[in-house]
Amino acid sequence: MDQRIAEFVKAHQDDIINDWRDLVNLEGSLREPQYLYPEAEWLKAKFTEAGVKCEIISTADNYPPLVCGTIGEDRPGVPVIFAGHFDTVFNKGTYGDNPFRIDEDGKAPGPGVLDMKGGIVIALWTIKALESIGYNDRPIRVCWCSDEEGGTDHGPVSKLITEWTSGCVAGFNMETSPVDWRLCVGRKYIFSGKAVFHGISAHSGNNYEAGRNAIVEAAYKVIAIQNMNNMELGTHMNPAIIAGGRMPNSIPDECTLTFSGRFKTKAEIERVRSELKELFSKTEIDGCSIEYTLSDPAGGFEASDKNMALWSFVNDVCKAEGFHEVGHVFLGGGSDASGMAESGVPVLCSCGVRGEWNHTDREYAVVDSMFERVNMWSNVVMHLDEFKAD
Ligand SMILES: [Zn+2]
Repeated sequence: MDQRIAEFVKAHQDDIINDWRDLVNLEGSLREPQYLYPEAEWLKAKFTEAGVKCEIISTADNYPPLVCGTIGEDRPGVPVIFAGHFDTVFNKGTYGDNPFRIDEDGKAPGPGVLDMKGGIVIALWTIKALESIGYNDRPIRVCWCSDEEGGTDHGPVSKLITEWTSGCVAGFNMETSPVDWRLCVGRKYIFSGKAVFHGISAHSGNNYEAGRNAIVEAAYKVIAIQNMNNMELGTHMNPAIIAGGRMPNSIPDECTLTFSGRFKTKAEIERVRSELKELFSKTEIDGCSIEYTLSDPAGGFEASDKNMALWSFVNDVCKAEGFHEVGHVFLGGGSDASGMAESGVPVLCSCGVRGEWNHTDREYAVVDSMFERVNMWSNVVMHLDEFKAD
């Protein structure tokens, strides 16, 4: 462990906590985007003060912005990037004013403390710690969005994250880390689909044979969609919402089915996509018809060889430098590591503070993991010239 970095972190523990407190207390969710703009200004000011050439970027009018920047643009090495998001799932004031606090058992509860403002503060202080020792090997980029928690127009934001990650040696998404030190090497993609089934309405007593039952047609498809599962490969299909019919004595002429799927690999997405195309191209009941739409897959990234190589490299640095070893995990939920990985750059997620229960009122972070990871990522960045993706 680099002693100069360790000492710098130790000497600035109060400053680090103060930044964490200020950022958590600047609450902001997507449902109240007006609060995300002052947060963006705060981040820009903080990263600028740390030496990052920083800008606030909007992908659309009246849509929450990103804060992106680079320090050491003219340094010789290939850049490295830290990314993540500064919106949380909580509206302002959900847990009272100024919700950041630290318990006597070393835990910091609070909205977004873990997911994922802790991770942003780690990146900020990693940059400051490296600056303090005159680090000059490679540029460091940062990219923070504010619509990760369910943004309605996240596509263009995700593209921008891909652009900022492109050309880097490695990307670290500073999301919530599991409490047991593991880093995330892959996440499942999700897509959702909607099928509309058309039948023919008729009186269920007088004209039964003239009717074509849209619900029955949908029922065949529900089972077929469920059967597209591949538990071994982690493909999970979910027929989720079904709606149709108006009254018991009429044959229903319309039914809608909303479904979703989660996938570990793009190959599985393609398999299910083509099976859905085949499934919806014909009906079991003559006279019924089907139309359907599928969203683009989002949120995932594959546990590729290069991501595993990056994980292995980070774990080796941890072992060599006296940090706790980092295991690895594949998670079911999505994150912006997806946009980062689209660049082709090796990526790890869950690089932020350790803790539990994000998205609930029990959310907390382990306070010591803040200092531990500023130290750890500083050492990892210092060793990056030893990293080989293949
Ligand atoms: Zn998050």
